[in-house]
Amino acid sequence: MARYTGPVCRLCRREGQKLFLKGERCYSKKCAVDRRAYAPGQHGQGRKKVSEYGRQLRTKQYARRYYGVLEGQFRHYFDMAEKMPGVTGENLLRLLESRLDNVIYRLGLASSRAEARQLVLHGHYTVNGRKVNIPSFLTKVGQVIAVKEGSRQNEKIKAIVEANSSRPIPKWLELNRETLEAKVVAVPNREDIDLPIEETLIVELYSK
Ligand code: SF4
Repeated sequence: MARYTGPVCRLCRREGQKLFLKGERCYSKKCAVDRRAYAPGQHGQGRKKVSEYGRQLRTKQYARRYYGVLEGQFRHYFDMAEKMPGVTGENLLRLLESRLDNVIYRLGLASSRAEARQLVLHGHYTVNGRKVNIPSFLTKVGQVIAVKEGSRQNEKIKAIVEANSSRPIPKWLELNRETLEAKVVAVPNREDIDLPIEETLIVELYSK
């Protein structure tokens, strides 16, 4: 599975916003966006004017990097969103939110989406009782996502769950902290998705 392996804080600085790619560090004073609030590279502090195309591109890149999805897959989600009934931009965000790695992160069962992706790949989770090790698996309303029985006593997973226990869980998900079982109870509405972007800019970019 292809993925970006370069320095991730550089991506946040490029987008000028936090992408929350490093777990705890993102909430600390060590965050690179807080310490160096300008784009990386030789001309990072000189870039000021952004064209309409630039805004559209940066918005798409921000969303893509936020969810840790490569360009081809992101475009595939857009094509799926266009064919769904409703508003394309919102459909796109719903698809991205319903990815299993994102759901694991939203539930506080991982500190970042990258960590969630790795834990999913290592087979620590089940969906409706069956092991699923595909981070891009699209969850649906009614499905039960759980930490696999053999992984519940795993010290790393216990530490992650403990460290993220105060993180709020979106209302379209429900988690039983005792059994480490969760359920998708609704399709996320736009207001349930805390992504600070205008998704219509992505639609405009891909509609050219
Ligand atoms: Fe981005 Fe987190 Fe690095 Fe801050 S610490 S720049 S939010 S990855």
